Amino acid sequence: MFYYSTNKQTQEVTLEEAVVKGLAKDKGLFMPKQIKRLPDAFYHNIGEMSFQEISFIVAEAFFGEDVEADVLKEIVYDTLNFDTPVIPVCDNIYSLELFHGPTLAFKDVGARFMARLLGHFIKKEGKKEVNVLVATSGDTGSAVANGFLGVPGIHVYVLYPKGKVSEIQEKQFTTLGKNITAIEIDGTFDDCQALVKSAFMDEELNNAMKLTSANSINVARFLPQAFYYFYAYAQLAKKEKAQNVVFSVPSGNFGNITAGLFAKRMGLPVKRFIAANNRNDIFLQYLNTGIYSPRPSIATIANAMDVGNPSNFARILELYKNSHEAICKEISGYSYTDDMIREAINTLYKTSGYLLDPHGACGYQALKDSLQPEENGVFLETAHPAKFLETVENTIHENVKIPQTLQTFMKGEKKSVELPSTFIPFKRFLMEQ
Ligand SMILES: *Cc1c(COP(=O)(O)O)cnc(C)c1O
Repeated sequence: MFYYSTNKQTQEVTLEEAVVKGLAKDKGLFMPKQIKRLPDAFYHNIGEMSFQEISFIVAEAFFGEDVEADVLKEIVYDTLNFDTPVIPVCDNIYSLELFHGPTLAFKDVGARFMARLLGHFIKKEGKKEVNVLVATSGDTGSAVANGFLGVPGIHVYVLYPKGKVSEIQEKQFTTLGKNITAIEIDGTFDDCQALVKSAFMDEELNNAMKLTSANSINVARFLPQAFYYFYAYAQLAKKEKAQNVVFSVPSGNFGNITAGLFAKRMGLPVKRFIAANNRNDIFLQYLNTGIYSPRPSIATIANAMDVGNPSNFARILELYKNSHEAICKEISGYSYTDDMIREAINTLYKTSGYLLDPHGACGYQALKDSLQPEENGVFLETAHPAKFLETVENTIHENVKIPQTLQTFMKGEKKSVELPSTFIPFKRFLMEQ
């Protein structure tokens, strides 16, 4: 299958090129030329199928023309060695828990899939080692580092701002060793991102080594996020609760929700979607006014959604042929302040015992505020609450149990390379590797 750019100023490319390049030449986002509808029989039987079985069928629709079936099956089964269960929370509201992977957040699914697909292309072509550069303010770095850990032919450099990520987050990408190098930059997240950008534009560096990004806009990270929408539906079907399904998605760069919109295009019977935002409500403003005006992000307690210019907005526009009306028909928006997020966490915990993280709390509250009696609502619980320990503990005034996986990271020994925020030392360091 070919991939075209949302900016339409450059030629279509193969899957392999789209995965290796990440972003199109004209700075647009890659879109698959076709979104295939899955057969009715699939939806009839879906309640009886496993997460891996369902995901393999979805993966074949996107990647089946470009990757041999046995290889693709192995990539899917290897990526999804953990579950994403649907848990009843209250009334007709369900939590789709996406935090059972190695770094306890939904980004594990896309990062692991991308690592394996890129690893396959490198092995097939017998290419020289590929170097993945990733700038992180916390969570992306851990998902990418753990996703790519031990994949032959790939080395990952994680750049992060010194002293500006939480200890738990830092441990998740500085203790791994092997093909993962953590680089601590004496600067901000924006400095880290600028260094990565400069590296991609530096001719000498690109001649010396093969560089690529594992950005969330990469199709190999983005498309696999459709898998768990199908599996969530399957679990509801099994409970005979699959009528009028509403997905509420805590959104920042809008990759996660856009993957859900793709699932709907493939025939998944979803009634509507909700984009749940923190105070960074650019998308909600667009729904209300028809005008998209990005602005600098505001810091909130749901910090993985502090995005002022959601990169996947271009994909949503493309999907709905720029029709504001069509978008409003399928997606509604909600925005919550930090106080409202804390209130949601506290109230649900005190009334039902279910503990939300600050991101999932936005998704939950949006359902609480808008779900109709005949609807079944599923919010995406995008991270484990223990990842935001201080915020959550200060909200419920109780200690939160830290899962074994996080405890293991905490015991690891931190190893990092310290560099200033200027480009020349960073370039010299890469050239010496
Ligand atoms: C990245 C992230 C989000 C936002 O997902 P998008 O695909 O960028 O909209 C939400 N919650 C958590 C915990 C995240 O890490």
